Amino acid sequence: MAHACYVCSFYPVPDGEGIECPHCHRLQYGNKCPKCGQNAPTRVRDFRVYCTACNHERGALSGGGITMPISMVGKPSQFGGIASKILGTGVIAVTLLLVTLVTLAAVSFSSAILGALAVILGTFGSVAGFLLFRGGNKLEQQGTRAQHDAREQALIAAARTRGGFLTAADAAGVLEVQVAEADALLTQIAKEGQRAHVEVDRDGVVKYVFHDAAPVHVAATTAAQPNVTGVRVDVDAATVVGQPIDHKEAARQQVDREFEELKKTRAAKGE
Ligand SMILES: [Zn+2]
Ligand SMILES: [Zn+2]
Repeated sequence: MAHACYVCSFYPVPDGEGIECPHCHRLQYGNKCPKCGQNAPTRVRDFRVYCTACNHERGALSGGGITMPISMVGKPSQFGGIASKILGTGVIAVTLLLVTLVTLAAVSFSSAILGALAVILGTFGSVAGFLLFRGGNKLEQQGTRAQHDAREQALIAAARTRGGFLTAADAAGVLEVQVAEADALLTQIAKEGQRAHVEVDRDGVVKYVFHDAAPVHVAATTAAQPNVTGVRVDVDAATVVGQPIDHKEAARQQVDREFEELKKTRAAKGE
């Protein structure tokens, strides 16, 4: 089975955990949610697994076919990487100590053999330490990348079930991280500019609008937010920050403006 890439819509990307999109190179997580139809990462609460996008329960934690929860993606690599770096640092420290001692002994006994031993120890120890450290660094980076991609995927999928946008608080709930951390990730995605931009509504609420996150239909009982009509608060052109608005976005804003007009008309009639 295959799916369209959640970021660039390239097709086909093979299903599976951590498979890279051949086009945009984002790692893909999560199999298809039967409720919202998205390849969204999952999350665990009380030993039950839920869809990060629509909150639909996917089954027990021990159940078959359940994918790695979002809080765990990249963690084994990150921990392994850190452990390897610590080990590498330790090897270098021990090597330094041994080389110093053997060199001192070589000098005091005027021993060429001990001198050679110091050189051999120094060479092998530093190479081993360096390789461990570099490998650990790489592993840690892989983990960080996997975590970033899974989080980004979860945010896009979640935006689709919430009218196409997220606030930092929404994102924090989806990713199970602090609001500041969620906000930083959203800001980074918005800065890259291809997938989202920032809008501030009239109440001063900062919203991250995802360009390709046209709302998907989610049954009202599981939709985790009230904006099921998909109608957004109108945004004054001057407050739109960031990337140019595409046609879909322009059409959407047109609808929003008309909706606002309708509301005003109704209010004037006293309805
Ligand atoms: Zn892609
Ligand atoms: Zn879902």
